[in-house]
Amino acid sequence: MSAKVWLVGAGPGDPELLTLKAVRALREADVVLIDDLVNDAVLEHCPGARIIPVGKRGGCRSTPQAFIHRLMLRYARQGKCVVRLKGGDPCIFGRGGEEAQWLRERGIEVELVNGITAGLAGATQCDIPLTLRGVARGVTLVTAHTQDDSSLNWQALAQGGTTLVIYMGVAKLSEIREQLLAGAMAADTPVAMIENASLPHQRECRSNLMAMEEDACAFELKSPAILVIGAVAANAISSCGSEPAREEALSIDINVGSQRA
Ligand code: SAH
Repeated sequence: MSAKVWLVGAGPGDPELLTLKAVRALREADVVLIDDLVNDAVLEHCPGARIIPVGKRGGCRSTPQAFIHRLMLRYARQGKCVVRLKGGDPCIFGRGGEEAQWLRERGIEVELVNGITAGLAGATQCDIPLTLRGVARGVTLVTAHTQDDSSLNWQALAQGGTTLVIYMGVAKLSEIREQLLAGAMAADTPVAMIENASLPHQRECRSNLMAMEEDACAFELKSPAILVIGAVAANAISSCGSEPAREEALSIDINVGSQRA
């Protein structure tokens, strides 16, 4: 039997943000290994599968990565269809790359399926466009959490002119503020902190670079949360397109569309 492991992104939480391909993989699954940021509601697509939680929170404090690797390998070698379901996207701070490589080195076929990463979903849920003409020419996704001694080039991040989306930053707010200020980012740079993005209990705290630690503390911001730092964090899409020129352009598009139809 062909051994295959799907490394699938479950998106940020809202089950409607799951891709059709993820749903297909779940329907085919015999075994599903889930991380703890995965919303259980998505498991309705695999009612017959064996579900194995391998997350690092909750009841199972820390499942060693080597154990997860061996579990996937064992089931795949038994000819089972294995889905490794991860929060957000499997390859954005999700170890999808490492797991795919480890399995392929052992002759296991791997298919990766994108999920909507929390940083994109969090911003969109708050009507924040991560790139915006004339305001932000790009977006940089970074994690504030490292397991080695490597450090980010904060100065480059502070001066890069892109929107910063920071994962795993709740416990590092003080360091993030200090480093970005030291890198000459303006103290009044807008910040949005989005907790439990896309879930019914989503909460959103707007602040700025100087005040974000105190504001997060008063707000009792908890993980999982995303930080969006940059001029766009002051915007909502609804307030961005209000100039007359844009409205005019939009009505021209609509007319052209209706003529074609
Ligand atoms: N692979 C995941 C990221 C895993 S790292 C993805 O692509 O989204 C875990 C971090 O992701 C959390 O500490 C938090 O910063 C962020 N995160 C995950 N789900 C989130 C959610 N629903 N709302 C806000 N942040 C979330």
